[in-house]
Amino acid sequence: MQIDVITLFPEMINQALSHSIPARAQKSNKVKVTAHFLRNWAIDKRGTVDDTPYGGGPGMVLRVDVAHAALTAVDPRHKAHRVMLSPDGDRLDQKLVKTLSEKKQLVLLCGRYEGFDARIEKYVDQKISIGDYVASGGELPALVLIDAVTRLIPGVLGNAESLEHETFENDVTDFPQYTRPEVYEKVSVPPVLLSGHHAEITAWRRSQQTQTR
Ligand code: SAM
Repeated sequence: MQIDVITLFPEMINQALSHSIPARAQKSNKVKVTAHFLRNWAIDKRGTVDDTPYGGGPGMVLRVDVAHAALTAVDPRHKAHRVMLSPDGDRLDQKLVKTLSEKKQLVLLCGRYEGFDARIEKYVDQKISIGDYVASGGELPALVLIDAVTRLIPGVLGNAESLEHETFENDVTDFPQYTRPEVYEKVSVPPVLLSGHHAEITAWRRSQQTQTR
Protein backbone atom coordinates (compact mmCIF):
# COMPACT_ATOMS: atom_id res chain seq x y z
CA MET A 1 0.00 0.00 0.00
CA GLN A 2 1.12 3.53 -0.75
CA ILE A 3 0.23 6.27 1.74
CA ASP A 4 0.93 9.90 0.86
CA VAL A 5 0.58 12.53 3.54
CA ILE A 6 0.30 16.19 2.63
CA THR A 7 1.36 18.29 5.59
CA LEU A 8 3.13 21.41 6.83
CA PHE A 9 5.12 19.17 9.19
CA PRO A 10 6.52 16.22 7.22
CA GLU A 11 9.08 15.53 9.95
CA MET A 12 6.29 14.73 12.42
CA ILE A 13 5.14 11.97 10.11
CA ASN A 14 8.60 10.60 9.27
CA GLN A 15 9.73 10.64 12.89
CA ALA A 16 6.71 8.90 14.30
CA LEU A 17 6.74 6.18 11.65
CA SER A 18 10.40 5.35 12.14
CA HIS A 19 9.67 3.03 15.09
CA SER A 20 8.18 -0.37 15.75
CA ILE A 21 5.48 -1.86 13.49
CA PRO A 22 5.07 1.02 10.99
CA ALA A 23 8.85 1.09 10.51
CA ARG A 24 8.99 -2.67 10.00
CA ALA A 25 6.08 -2.54 7.56
CA GLN A 26 7.95 0.02 5.48
CA LYS A 27 11.24 -1.86 5.60
CA SER A 28 9.54 -4.98 4.28
CA ASN A 29 7.85 -2.93 1.52
CA LYS A 30 4.36 -3.81 2.68
CA VAL A 31 3.65 -0.10 3.09
CA LYS A 32 5.34 2.96 1.71
CA VAL A 33 4.58 6.27 3.41
CA THR A 34 5.68 9.51 1.78
CA ALA A 35 5.25 12.83 3.56
CA HIS A 36 4.89 15.81 1.19
CA PHE A 37 5.57 19.37 2.34
CA LEU A 38 2.51 21.49 1.56
CA ARG A 39 4.68 24.59 1.18
CA ASN A 40 6.14 23.08 -2.01
CA TRP A 41 2.87 24.23 -3.62
CA ALA A 42 2.85 27.69 -2.03
CA ILE A 43 1.62 30.63 -4.13
CA ASP A 44 4.81 32.67 -3.74
CA LYS A 45 8.49 32.47 -2.87
CA ARG A 46 7.74 33.33 0.74
CA GLY A 47 5.91 30.02 1.04
CA THR A 48 2.40 31.37 1.54
CA VAL A 49 -0.20 28.60 1.90
CA ASP A 50 -2.92 30.37 3.91
CA ASP A 51 -4.86 33.59 4.16
CA THR A 52 -7.35 35.40 6.41
CA PRO A 53 -10.96 34.17 6.37
CA TYR A 54 -13.57 35.91 4.22
CA GLY A 55 -16.21 37.41 6.48
CA GLY A 56 -13.65 38.04 9.21
CA GLY A 57 -12.75 36.10 12.31
CA PRO A 58 -9.62 34.86 14.00
CA GLY A 59 -6.92 32.62 12.55
CA MET A 60 -5.82 31.68 9.09
CA VAL A 61 -7.39 29.39 6.51
CA LEU A 62 -5.40 27.05 4.24
CA ARG A 63 -5.90 27.98 0.60
CA VAL A 64 -7.88 25.72 -1.72
CA ASP A 65 -5.63 26.40 -4.74
CA VAL A 66 -2.53 25.31 -2.78
CA ALA A 67 -4.18 22.16 -1.39
CA HIS A 68 -5.66 21.26 -4.79
CA ALA A 69 -2.28 21.67 -6.49
CA ALA A 70 -0.71 19.37 -3.89
CA LEU A 71 -3.42 16.73 -4.33
CA THR A 72 -3.06 16.86 -8.11
CA ALA A 73 0.72 16.53 -7.97
CA VAL A 74 0.63 13.61 -5.55
CA ASP A 75 -2.32 11.82 -7.18
CA PRO A 76 -2.54 13.16 -10.77
CA ARG A 77 -5.26 10.83 -12.06
CA HIS A 78 -7.21 10.64 -8.82
CA LYS A 79 -6.61 6.92 -8.42
CA ALA A 80 -6.04 7.13 -4.66
CA HIS A 81 -8.62 7.32 -1.92
CA ARG A 82 -8.22 10.92 -0.80
CA VAL A 83 -8.89 11.66 2.84
CA MET A 84 -8.98 14.99 4.60
CA LEU A 85 -8.47 14.78 8.35
CA SER A 86 -11.21 16.86 9.92
CA PRO A 87 -12.99 16.93 13.29
CA ASP A 88 -16.38 16.88 11.51
CA GLY A 89 -15.56 13.83 9.35
CA ASP A 90 -16.66 10.19 9.55
CA ARG A 91 -15.56 8.75 12.87
CA LEU A 92 -12.53 6.44 12.56
CA ASP A 93 -13.43 3.04 14.00
CA GLN A 94 -12.09 -0.46 13.37
CA LYS A 95 -14.61 -1.07 10.56
CA LEU A 96 -13.43 2.03 8.72
CA VAL A 97 -9.78 1.11 9.43
CA LYS A 98 -10.43 -2.27 7.78
CA THR A 99 -12.02 -0.64 4.72
CA LEU A 100 -9.07 1.74 4.39
CA SER A 101 -6.55 -1.11 4.75
CA GLU A 102 -7.97 -2.64 1.55
CA LYS A 103 -7.17 0.44 -0.57
CA LYS A 104 -4.12 0.48 -2.82
CA GLN A 105 -3.28 4.11 -2.14
CA LEU A 106 -4.37 6.64 0.45
CA VAL A 107 -3.68 10.36 0.30
CA LEU A 108 -4.09 12.07 3.66
CA LEU A 109 -4.52 15.83 3.76
CA CYS A 110 -3.57 17.36 7.12
CA GLY A 111 -4.99 20.72 8.13
CA ARG A 112 -3.55 23.33 10.49
CA TYR A 113 -4.75 26.70 11.84
CA GLU A 114 -8.51 27.07 11.11
CA GLY A 115 -8.40 24.21 8.60
CA PHE A 116 -8.85 24.25 4.81
CA ASP A 117 -11.02 26.48 2.66
CA ALA A 118 -14.28 24.50 2.43
CA ARG A 119 -14.01 24.25 -1.37
CA ILE A 120 -11.30 21.59 -1.00
CA GLU A 121 -14.04 19.07 -0.16
CA LYS A 122 -14.83 18.77 -3.86
CA TYR A 123 -11.38 17.19 -4.42
CA VAL A 124 -11.34 14.63 -1.59
CA ASP A 125 -13.29 11.39 -1.24
CA GLN A 126 -13.83 11.38 2.48
CA LYS A 127 -13.37 13.44 5.62
CA ILE A 128 -12.26 11.43 8.65
CA SER A 129 -12.23 12.39 12.33
CA ILE A 130 -10.40 10.53 15.07
CA GLY A 131 -12.88 11.71 17.71
CA ASP A 132 -14.99 14.54 18.98
CA TYR A 133 -12.22 16.88 20.07
CA VAL A 134 -10.04 19.36 18.23
CA ALA A 135 -6.34 18.66 17.77
CA SER A 136 -3.96 21.41 16.63
CA GLY A 137 -3.31 19.77 13.30
CA GLY A 138 -4.06 16.78 11.12
CA GLU A 139 -0.68 15.09 11.62
CA LEU A 140 -1.46 13.20 14.84
CA PRO A 141 -4.88 12.12 13.51
CA ALA A 142 -3.18 10.96 10.28
CA LEU A 143 -0.62 9.00 12.31
CA VAL A 144 -3.35 7.28 14.31
CA LEU A 145 -5.02 6.29 11.04
CA ILE A 146 -1.76 5.10 9.45
CA ASP A 147 -0.76 3.06 12.49
CA ALA A 148 -4.15 1.34 12.77
CA VAL A 149 -4.36 0.67 9.00
CA THR A 150 -0.77 -0.59 8.71
CA ARG A 151 -1.17 -3.35 11.28
CA LEU A 152 -4.11 -4.82 9.30
CA ILE A 153 -2.10 -5.23 6.11
CA PRO A 154 -1.41 -8.94 5.59
CA GLY A 155 2.09 -9.93 6.66
CA VAL A 156 2.80 -6.82 8.72
CA LEU A 157 2.20 -8.39 12.13
CA GLY A 158 4.16 -11.46 13.15
CA ASN A 159 2.49 -14.43 14.83
CA ALA A 160 3.40 -13.06 18.23
CA GLU A 161 1.21 -10.03 17.54
CA SER A 162 -1.69 -11.90 15.99
CA LEU A 163 -4.87 -9.94 15.28
CA GLU A 164 -7.05 -12.90 16.14
CA HIS A 165 -8.06 -11.93 19.68
CA GLU A 166 -7.81 -8.19 19.43
CA THR A 167 -10.49 -5.86 20.67
CA PHE A 168 -13.13 -5.23 17.94
CA GLU A 169 -12.21 -8.44 16.07
CA ASN A 170 -15.49 -10.41 16.03
CA ASP A 171 -17.11 -7.45 17.84
CA VAL A 172 -15.72 -8.34 21.27
CA THR A 173 -12.96 -6.97 23.46
CA ASP A 174 -9.67 -8.77 23.97
CA PHE A 175 -9.50 -10.92 27.13
CA PRO A 176 -7.36 -9.85 30.09
CA GLN A 177 -3.74 -11.03 29.88
CA TYR A 178 -1.25 -11.77 32.66
CA THR A 179 2.45 -12.58 32.94
CA ARG A 180 4.98 -13.02 35.76
CA PRO A 181 5.02 -12.48 38.68
CA GLU A 182 2.24 -14.90 39.61
CA VAL A 183 1.34 -12.79 42.67
CA TYR A 184 1.82 -9.03 42.76
CA GLU A 185 0.99 -7.02 45.88
CA LYS A 186 -1.26 -9.88 47.04
CA VAL A 187 -3.16 -10.02 43.73
CA SER A 188 -2.85 -13.40 42.02
CA VAL A 189 -3.19 -14.38 38.41
CA PRO A 190 -6.60 -16.12 37.95
CA PRO A 191 -5.93 -19.79 38.92
CA VAL A 192 -7.53 -21.16 35.72
CA LEU A 193 -4.66 -19.67 33.69
CA LEU A 194 -2.18 -21.76 35.70
CA SER A 195 -4.23 -24.95 35.38
CA GLY A 196 -2.82 -26.06 32.04
CA HIS A 197 -6.41 -27.01 31.07
CA HIS A 198 -6.81 -25.51 27.60
CA ALA A 199 -10.57 -25.91 27.24
CA GLU A 200 -11.15 -24.24 30.61
CA ILE A 201 -8.72 -21.46 29.77
CA THR A 202 -10.54 -20.82 26.47
CA ALA A 203 -13.92 -20.83 28.23
CA TRP A 204 -12.67 -18.45 30.92
CA ARG A 205 -11.19 -16.09 28.35
CA ARG A 206 -14.47 -16.07 26.42
CA SER A 207 -16.36 -15.28 29.61
CA GLN A 208 -14.15 -12.22 30.12
CA GLN A 209 -14.77 -10.70 26.69
CA THR A 210 -17.50 -8.10 26.30
CA GLN A 211 -19.44 -7.06 23.21
CA THR A 212 -18.14 -3.93 21.49
CA ARG A 213 -21.33 -3.29 19.53
N1 SAM B 1 -11.50 25.20 13.02
C1 SAM B 1 -11.58 23.79 12.92
C2 SAM B 1 -12.86 23.29 13.57
O1 SAM B 1 -13.29 23.88 14.58
O2 SAM B 1 -13.38 22.26 13.09
C3 SAM B 1 -10.42 23.10 13.63
C4 SAM B 1 -9.15 23.17 12.91
S1 SAM B 1 -7.91 22.25 13.71
C5 SAM B 1 -7.24 23.39 14.82
C6 SAM B 1 -6.68 22.12 12.47
C7 SAM B 1 -6.68 20.79 11.75
O3 SAM B 1 -6.45 19.74 12.66
C8 SAM B 1 -7.93 20.40 11.01
O4 SAM B 1 -8.01 21.03 9.76
C9 SAM B 1 -7.76 18.89 10.88
O5 SAM B 1 -6.94 18.56 9.77
C10 SAM B 1 -7.02 18.54 12.16
N2 SAM B 1 -7.88 17.98 13.21
C11 SAM B 1 -8.16 18.55 14.40
N3 SAM B 1 -8.94 17.76 15.14
C12 SAM B 1 -9.16 16.64 14.42
C13 SAM B 1 -9.89 15.44 14.64
N4 SAM B 1 -10.58 15.24 15.76
N5 SAM B 1 -9.87 14.49 13.68
C14 SAM B 1 -9.19 14.68 12.54
N6 SAM B 1 -8.49 15.80 12.27
C15 SAM B 1 -8.47 16.76 13.19
